[in-house]
Amino acid sequence: MIDFGFALKETRQENLDKTSLEKFYRLQELVPSFKRCFQCGNCSATCSARQFTDFSIRRVHTSFRRGEYDGLADELRKCMLCGKCTLVCPRGVNLRALIMNMREILDEPKKTGKR
Ligand code: SF4
Ligand code: SF4
Repeated sequence: MIDFGFALKETRQENLDKTSLEKFYRLQELVPSFKRCFQCGNCSATCSARQFTDFSIRRVHTSFRRGEYDGLADELRKCMLCGKCTLVCPRGVNLRALIMNMREILDEPKKTGKR
């Protein structure tokens, strides 16, 4: 095969038959400002934790929106809740509340023993 210097990645298309968005809908009810997010990435660009780790809050809340929850609880531990992302969000998304509620929702199976 010819090496073009790049590779094609697998499709990131959402399969809604296999994905449950129940947690995402719940998060939206708890933090209604999340509906205004238009994925600009300002939150990640200014994130304090991003300066020291590979943490991306935008990647985390985008994965949550897509119903892809694996590994997110561990990722969210890198956030130190400084609140800078909330200050710079042009759409007024309450990211600090978003992060705390994502943590709560992702921790539920541990607390209740359910998956
Ligand atoms: S800064 Fe606000 S609008 Fe932009 S990606 Fe982050 S949460 Fe969404
Ligand atoms: S609250 Fe968390 S995600 Fe937001 S800027 Fe601070 S460390 Fe980053």
